[in-house]
Amino acid sequence: MDITERFLRYVSVDTQSDECSHTTPTAEKEKRMGEALTAEMTEIGLHGAHTDGYGYVYGWLPASVGCESIPTLGLIAHMDTSPDASGANVKPRIVHYEGGDIVLNAETGVKLSAEQFESLNAYVGQDLIVTDGTTLLGADDKAGVAEILTALEHLAAHPEIPHGRVAVCITPDEEVGAGADHFDLEQFGAAVAYTVDGGELGGLEYENFNAASARVTVRGVNLHPGSAKNKMKNAALIAVEFATLLPPAETPAHTEGYEGFYHLNRIKANETLAKLHYLIRDHDWERFQKRKDFFTRAAAWLNEKYGPGTVQLELTDSYYNMREKIEPHMYLIHRARSAFRKVGVETREEPIRGGTDGARLSYMGLPCPNLSTGGVNFHGVYEYIPVQSMEKMAEMLVCLITEEDGTKTNNIT
Ligand SMILES: [Zn+2]
Repeated sequence: MDITERFLRYVSVDTQSDECSHTTPTAEKEKRMGEALTAEMTEIGLHGAHTDGYGYVYGWLPASVGCESIPTLGLIAHMDTSPDASGANVKPRIVHYEGGDIVLNAETGVKLSAEQFESLNAYVGQDLIVTDGTTLLGADDKAGVAEILTALEHLAAHPEIPHGRVAVCITPDEEVGAGADHFDLEQFGAAVAYTVDGGELGGLEYENFNAASARVTVRGVNLHPGSAKNKMKNAALIAVEFATLLPPAETPAHTEGYEGFYHLNRIKANETLAKLHYLIRDHDWERFQKRKDFFTRAAAWLNEKYGPGTVQLELTDSYYNMREKIEPHMYLIHRARSAFRKVGVETREEPIRGGTDGARLSYMGLPCPNLSTGGVNFHGVYEYIPVQSMEKMAEMLVCLITEEDGTKTNNIT
């Protein structure tokens, strides 16, 4: 099947995951997509295609004759879309782009402005799949699903092309941070994998933040302000004091590249009780630990000042930088670079200022760098993807699968 047709079929199914749900998958509707994908995998010739009880879809392309000894390679994408924008009734449109703005919705005036979105310049002369300005598109990550299945369909139809066994898993709930929760590594049966869940064509990612969250609770003593002298402990003011102990330049608004930050993302306070919620991020492991230490010391300092138990701190690690887990398998990076090169795409390697399911999988024992899908402006109505980028990625995946497994070049970094 044509990759565009495949992609358009996927985005017509609403698979928005639900951050408030405690079920797996978080939205029942994800299962519909799972069933359709299972049928499709079987149809294109994958073995053992099925959806498990958690909504994960698995399937395997057997090795071609004579290649049975090549280690299994895993490919992973997610079927759900972000809760940040509606994914219901997506009405995609293909625009042959000749420069300038693209009006997404004439009625509401929503447009993809060439000035605001400079990335458009790179796609003059290409065919862009855009939204109608009321929903997201779902290239994140249905483009990844379409690219993987198109590549596997090609290989299944061409048994003369030599390749090792390929394991595929399409997960639910990546957008709500739960895509790795029920990943069955044993069943998957690959020692290494790639997620196909990145942005613009050529992206190759194997570094991400180390991440923790901090819950700071301040307990005050409240009295009538008229008779509070030497008695009141205002929890709201102590919370502000805590916040101002942190370096003001080390926030998301002032950092980029490898610079870490403290991010205050919730605060609720009165005189009696104040609660702050922070995200702590750093690519570097030592600096990550130091950031957490800083929180501990700030809480201790305020407790010394206002009395024990005034400030309570709960630090929870969320995920870690996958780099450490990828480094012993650098051939994965060489293999991806080589596959991009073969299809004439320049590789862009940048540290992710966030996490991926691949980062969590890497720590669960499945080293898993992230590849581009070709999509742009994820999670909103400005999301778009060039048809040509999807086609390139499907070609790139064929090259990736048919590369030598590359373990011998592990020493070259
Ligand atoms: Zn994604």
